[in-house]
Amino acid sequence: MSILVVGSVALDTVKTPFGRCKDILGGSATYFSVSASFFEPNVNLVAVVGNDFPPKYVNLLKEKGIDLKGMVTKKGKTFRWEGEYGWDFSNPETIATHLNVLSRFNPAIPREYRNSEYVFLANIDPQIQKQVLNQMARPKLVACDTMNYWIENKRKALVKLLKKVDIFLLNESEAKELAGDASLVKAARAILKLGPKKIIVKKGEHGSLLFSGNSVFSTPAYLMESIFDPTGAGDTFAGGVLGYLAACKTQNQANLRRAIVYGSVMATFAVEDFSLRRLAAITRADVVRRFKEFRKLTHF
Ligand code: AMP
Repeated sequence: MSILVVGSVALDTVKTPFGRCKDILGGSATYFSVSASFFEPNVNLVAVVGNDFPPKYVNLLKEKGIDLKGMVTKKGKTFRWEGEYGWDFSNPETIATHLNVLSRFNPAIPREYRNSEYVFLANIDPQIQKQVLNQMARPKLVACDTMNYWIENKRKALVKLLKKVDIFLLNESEAKELAGDASLVKAARAILKLGPKKIIVKKGEHGSLLFSGNSVFSTPAYLMESIFDPTGAGDTFAGGVLGYLAACKTQNQANLRRAIVYGSVMATFAVEDFSLRRLAAITRADVVRRFKEFRKLTHF
């Protein structure tokens, strides 16, 4: 199996109550691909960076076995995002978004990538997400993420895209904003009517909810002792979900539920340090250990 991901590869500037880091590795596709690589060895990354993108970050992705044929370097600056978190560590305040080379990104999917069975359209302009999907042969599963920036600025394109999506991941406030409803259950139902077969609503430290048809599956979040920087938690979660699904031979509800728990486990590593410092340093044994602890925590 192989996974194709399109999204941002970024240089983030992040401020939390514990400090500020400037121009550190970030981006939706970055977190996703590193996370997915723990489950599925064939992760194909489609993204654009500027010629200021540090080679040490390229090496980090290569060391994780991520295929970078689809990551192009363009003259100009890499996409930059700056955000700040308060003590509740929920939604960051976006201080600045500089699209830079991302504003002219026109992805051409390498021929070798077009048969990827699993496709993740990570947080990026929904028009680019659609452009990528149109070039794919016949994916087994298409999942998609987004954020308030695109809900507010490219709503029409996003809604059109959702008709072609199997799993739509978004956080609680985005779900409410997209549906225009303060009740999460009603918002989820309204979004399902837009086309996605399933939606996963991420609720940060309160876990996540899977909605499909008339069924709902609820998972708590793992109890964290050290939360340092929540940036990338959502993309890391998605990487665990799709990585695990791609590694499974069969697609069924039980595997999807287990995939969500693996996604939650992966997200815990993303938040334990700035950028991908912790996520890139863990081993498969760390993932399995935390999965077992998660199971103990929720078993009754
Ligand atoms: P999350 O998993 O939601 O915390 O995603 C965090 C990542 O999203 C950061 O590393 C940012 O670089 C990236 N990001 C922020 N804004 C955007 C945007 N408008 N488009 C694409 N990626 C973004």
